[in-house]
Amino acid sequence: MKYNGTWDLESIFKGGTNSEDVQTKLESVKEDIVRYADQLKAWNSDPGNDASTLQKILKQQEVIGKGLGQVGTFINMWHDAFMDDEHASVVKGQVMELYSEIQQISTIFTKKLVAISDDQWSKLLKDDVLKEISFSLDEIREQGKRLLSEDEEKLIAKLNKDGIAAWSDLYNTVGSIMTVPFTDKDGKTTDLSIGQAMNKMYADPDSDVRAELFEDWEKVWSKNGLVFADILNHLAGYRLTLQDAHGREGHLEEPLEYNRMTEETLRAMWSAVDAQKQTFLDYLAQKANLLGMDKLGWQDVDAPVAMGETKPTRFTYDEACDFIIEHFTSFGPKLTDFTKHALENRWVEAEDRSNKRPGGYCTSLPEFEESRIFMTFTGSPSDTSTLAHELGHAFHSHVMKDLPELNQGYAMNVAETASTFAETIIADATVKNATTDEEKVSLLANKLEGATAMFLNIRARFLFEDSFYKERAKGIVSEKRLNELMVEAQKEAFGDTLSSYHPHFWAAKLHFFIDSVPFYNFPYTFGYLFSLGIYAEYLKHPEGFEEKYIALLRDTGSMKVEDLAKKHLGVDVTKEDFWAAGIELVGKDVDEFVELTNKLQK
Ligand SMILES: [Zn+2]
Repeated sequence: MKYNGTWDLESIFKGGTNSEDVQTKLESVKEDIVRYADQLKAWNSDPGNDASTLQKILKQQEVIGKGLGQVGTFINMWHDAFMDDEHASVVKGQVMELYSEIQQISTIFTKKLVAISDDQWSKLLKDDVLKEISFSLDEIREQGKRLLSEDEEKLIAKLNKDGIAAWSDLYNTVGSIMTVPFTDKDGKTTDLSIGQAMNKMYADPDSDVRAELFEDWEKVWSKNGLVFADILNHLAGYRLTLQDAHGREGHLEEPLEYNRMTEETLRAMWSAVDAQKQTFLDYLAQKANLLGMDKLGWQDVDAPVAMGETKPTRFTYDEACDFIIEHFTSFGPKLTDFTKHALENRWVEAEDRSNKRPGGYCTSLPEFEESRIFMTFTGSPSDTSTLAHELGHAFHSHVMKDLPELNQGYAMNVAETASTFAETIIADATVKNATTDEEKVSLLANKLEGATAMFLNIRARFLFEDSFYKERAKGIVSEKRLNELMVEAQKEAFGDTLSSYHPHFWAAKLHFFIDSVPFYNFPYTFGYLFSLGIYAEYLKHPEGFEEKYIALLRDTGSMKVEDLAKKHLGVDVTKEDFWAAGIELVGKDVDEFVELTNKLQK
C-alpha cells in the first residue's frame, strides 16, 4: 500500500481516552478560563480602555479555544474510530462542561463590547491589530446589542437545556426506539431501525421493496404524528419567543444573519432554481421511463439507475488517492501539494472495518493548525467523491490557518464551498474517464442525485418551513395542517412529476428538529450553487484561477457573502444570473444523461 489509510492518533495525545496528557491539557484550559474571567472583570470598557487590553483578552480566548478544541476533536476522533470505548463519553462530558462555562463568560465579554460608546469603538478599531479583525468584532458587538441583561441571558442559557434542546433530544429518543417492519421475499418479517429502513427505502434496486417500505414508513411516522407535531410546535414556539425577546423581525432574520446574507440573495437563489426547475423534472421523467414506470414515487427519486450488464467502477484506496491527486493537478499546484501532504502524513482514517461510526467528515486540530478526515472507503466512485469532498474542506482550513482566529469562522452556507468544488473536479473527471456509455449513465445519475436534492427536495423543505413558521407565529399548527403544508411544498417543488408524496416528511426529517441552528436546509443549496458558480467562473478563466480561489476562501470568515462574491468574482449574488450559471452547468449533465440513455435504449 502506497498510502496508509488509518489516521495517527498517538501523535495527538498518547494513551487514548485514558491519556494523562488529555487530563493535563484540560487542567491547563481550566486555569486559562479562570485567568480569562479575571481579565474580563478587570477590563474597564469605559472610554479609558485601550486596544492592548482587548488584544490580550482575545489572545486568551484563542488559547482556550485552541486547547479545548484540540481535546474535543481528539476525543471525538477516538470515539468515532473505536465506538465501543465507553470511557470516551466521560471525557466528552468534561469538554462539554468547559464549553458551557466559556459560553457563560462570553456573554460578559459581549456585554463589555456593547458598553463601549460608538465613538470610542470606531477609534479602537483603527488600531493596527484590531483593524484586521474589525468585521468579526463589529459582528459580535452588533449581535450583542440584542442581548437581554446578563442575568436574563444566563437564565435563558440554562433553560435552553431543558427547553429547546430538550425538544430536540426528545425527537431523537422517540426516533431511536421506532422501527419499521419489513417482510422480505421469503416472507420473513424483521424490524428495521429508522436509519436502516431509510437506506433501503431510497436505495434498494427493487422498486417493489422501495414501494412497500415507503408505505410502512409513512404509516410509522403517522402513528406517532401527534407526538412529532407537539415537538415541532414547541421547538418552533420556543425559538419564536426567543427571537421576539431579542427584538428580531420575522423568522428569517436569525438564519440570514447567521449565514451573513440578505433576504434578497436568498430570494434570487430560489427564483433562479425555480426558473430552471423543468430541466430537473425532465430528468426525473426520463428516470421513470428507464425504471419502467409511468411516474416516479417519492421513494424512487434517488433509486439507482443501472443499464445493461455494467461492472461497477471500483477503486483501491491507493488508486483513489492517485486519481484525486492527478485531477487536482490540472486545477492548481497548491491544492495538489496540500493533498499529497495530507495523504502521505496519515490525516485520513478510511479503513473499512467494523466498530467505526458511519459517515464522513473533516475536523480540525487547532493547536496543530491541521485537519483530519474520517470516512470508510469501500471502493465505490462515491467514496472517492467523499474523500475529495473532505480534502476540499481540509484545504479550506489550510489556506486560512495563518489568519487571526476570529477571521477563521465561516458560516454554514460558505462552509461547503471548497468541498463541493473539490468534489466537482473529481466527479467531472470520473464521468470523463468512464469507459462505456452504461458506466457513464450510472455516474451521471450519481452526480444528479445531489442536484435534485438541492434544487427540488431542499426547495420543498424551505417552502414548508417558511409557511410553517408563518402559521406557528399565530398559534399551534395541527398535524393535519402540517401534512397539508408539506404536500403543498412538495408539489410546488416537484411539480406533478411524482406519483406519490410524503405528508409526514416534516416528522421524518431530522433537520427540522435541530435546536442549535434555525433553517438548517437552505444553506446547503446556497453552498452547492455558490461553489458551482465559482466552478463556472473557473471553467471560463482557468489560467491562474487557483490564486483567485484561495483569496476568496481566505475571506469567507470575515465578509458578508454579497461582498465576498463582488470582491473576488465581480458578481452580484442578489441577482439571479450568478445562480443561473451554476444551475446551467448541472443542466448539461441532464442533457448528457437524456441523450445517452435514449441512445442506449434504441
Ligand atoms: Zn461537507
